[in-house]
Amino acid sequence: MELEIKKLNALRKYLGEFSFDYIPPENLNLVPLCKISGAVKVFGEYEIFDDDSVEIKLTIGYCLKGQCSYCLIDAEQKIEFTSEILYLTEKDDDNYYYDGNKLDLKSAVDDAILISQPNVLLCKEDCKGIDVT
Ligand SMILES: [Zn+2]
Repeated sequence: MELEIKKLNALRKYLGEFSFDYIPPENLNLVPLCKISGAVKVFGEYEIFDDDSVEIKLTIGYCLKGQCSYCLIDAEQKIEFTSEILYLTEKDDDNYYYDGNKLDLKSAVDDAILISQPNVLLCKEDCKGIDVT
């Protein structure tokens, strides 16, 4: 998931869009008994500024599948998440870093996957848990 910023600059493509399919590593699955099913759809828009900083509006979409956290029947939920992030060519604590040439979106996408995941997966909004009657 790389954007070749140096090349895009040379082509004067200061504004643009991108899209990738991304298979996330296992350790990004946070909800017990659930997994991200298939690829995460990654798309977004970038803008390159004069100082080589790059602003990105990042959207990810994926399907979380597994067992309902309350009643354990099969459940799935579609998740979409958008964030605005900034890549700088100098390291600081608040933004992402790239070397001014190739910008790798992986860490931002991984972060978005972690932030966007719910604490539980439910089969329906008002699941009451295992029916014991
Ligand atoms: Zn349930």
